[in-house]
Amino acid sequence: MTSIYSLTKEDLENYFVNLGEKKFKATQIYEWIYRKRVNDFSLMSNIKKEILERLKKDFKFDDIKIISKKEDVDVKKYLFELNDKNKIEAVLMNHNYGNSLCISTQVGCNMACSFCESGRLKKVRNLNANEMILQVLKIEQNLNIKISHIVLMGIGEPFDNYDNVIKFINIINDPYGIALGSRHITVSTSGLVPKILQFIKDGKQVNLAISLHAPNDELRSKIMPVNKAYNIDKLIKAVKEYIYNTNRRVTFEYIMLKNVNDTYECALQLSKLLKGINCYVNLIPYNETTHIEYKKSSKEKIMRFYDILKKNKINVTIRREFGRKVNAACGQLRSNYEEGL
Ligand code: SAH
Repeated sequence: MTSIYSLTKEDLENYFVNLGEKKFKATQIYEWIYRKRVNDFSLMSNIKKEILERLKKDFKFDDIKIISKKEDVDVKKYLFELNDKNKIEAVLMNHNYGNSLCISTQVGCNMACSFCESGRLKKVRNLNANEMILQVLKIEQNLNIKISHIVLMGIGEPFDNYDNVIKFINIINDPYGIALGSRHITVSTSGLVPKILQFIKDGKQVNLAISLHAPNDELRSKIMPVNKAYNIDKLIKAVKEYIYNTNRRVTFEYIMLKNVNDTYECALQLSKLLKGINCYVNLIPYNETTHIEYKKSSKEKIMRFYDILKKNKINVTIRREFGRKVNAACGQLRSNYEEGL
């Protein structure tokens, strides 16, 4: 049976029109589900009984289970079990500007970035839109809070699950539902160029982040196999096209890996690569994991890298570190859980 959480308002409108009912019913249902957070059709008191019976036949309120929750200062990490027993994670971070939630988009990931824990488990399947929505609803309910920002930076490659991700954005964005503003949503991709081009056409106003992590093809192909399919030149061209069409600034994420991509030469190459592009670079101190050899760059190295970019007039920030104690890096919680750690 279809999950009611997988329907955009437009889907529900079409459903009601097909039944010979008014479109407006969809708005009422959306308000019950996402404003009043009701998860039982019987409680929707302003909807006719026959319609409720029909809805009950056609749709279900599904659920995902919180099976572990770990807390550290300003960060809470959740491990969820899906109905088919697969496990995914989501991380909540308290910023001074609000509560930001990092959600997963797939079970496992096929991008195989050498530094990333998530890629150690190959993609098992895509998450459906309802499974992304439920990560948000469950955590808001668990903590009795309102999430103000969402980043699609958990397990998975969002653009390898494009249609469900767009659906999720439409649902969470809907003014009669959760109504999270587009500017408060960030999609992060390892660089699937055709999907970046499609994203331009779809005209979503959400933020786009690109996991760049290296300033030249030789190094990037070594740490991110996706670069062999879409190299830096192709990626930067697509990003420029995105900026030209949307007039929006792009974020480049750059993990700082000790003695790999944190050198003086890398900083210079990166400055040259991004010169004149409407972007900013987010330097991410690498979150070390037990299974992978890479080490985190020293504070001094990161500062030096930062200074070089600044000097070359590249907008740059250093990401605040969250949740080292709770294994908050992409995929760590799931992988440790499987190993009984
Ligand atoms: N597949 C998408 C989104 C998920 S990864 C992407 O590649 O953008 C989200 C971000 O976390 C990416 O920039 C990724 O490179 C980064 N990341 C993965 N493992 C990390 C770790 N151990 N420490 C810090 N950042 C990490």
